[in-house]
Amino acid sequence: ALALPAAAYMLQEQEARAAEMERTFIAIKPDGVQRGLIAEIISRFERKGFKLVAIKIVVPSKGFAQKHYYDLKERPFFNGLCNFLSSGPAVAMVWEGEGVIKYGRKLIGATDPQKSEPGTIRGDLAVVVGRNIIHGSDGPETAKDEINLWLKPEELTSYSNNAEKWIYG
Ligand code: ADP
Repeated sequence: ALALPAAAYMLQEQEARAAEMERTFIAIKPDGVQRGLIAEIISRFERKGFKLVAIKIVVPSKGFAQKHYYDLKERPFFNGLCNFLSSGPAVAMVWEGEGVIKYGRKLIGATDPQKSEPGTIRGDLAVVVGRNIIHGSDGPETAKDEINLWLKPEELTSYSNNAEKWIYG
């Protein structure tokens, strides 16, 4: 290998790591907000080692909820679901990290809290499918679309923190 100064190797490593990073959209639904679970939910993502790069609290309009859940428009629960999502403040977040889209879904647990494993957010903190407290993107395309729907580009940050070298090595 070429004799690069240590700083150059570190830069290459950081660049390689940055290329691996993904982002996902996570929302704490109105039931999670009302039940005082914001900090609990954020804490689970934060302790894992994922990085919070955007956060805001918003009351989605019914029309906005319909856009967010457009893929479910034929389902019988669609209207109730959109009424529910627009019933009060929700917390919109973007989390970043290696594998965060897929692993975020693991942290969240199965859609129906009766089927979510204990140890997952829905498994530990929710009981019924219509009040399952949290949303998470289900794939890279959805993540991109949902981030664009919920957040303006200037609401997204990009930063490195000192813990990263201990989280990723
Ligand atoms: P997920 O949120 O786990 O990605 P889906 O995309 O299938 O799950 O559904 C979106 C949301 O619609 C669920 O989180 C839940 O709030 C609601 N939902 C799904 N199935 C039902 C159902 N049978 N009855 C009521 N609400 C439902």
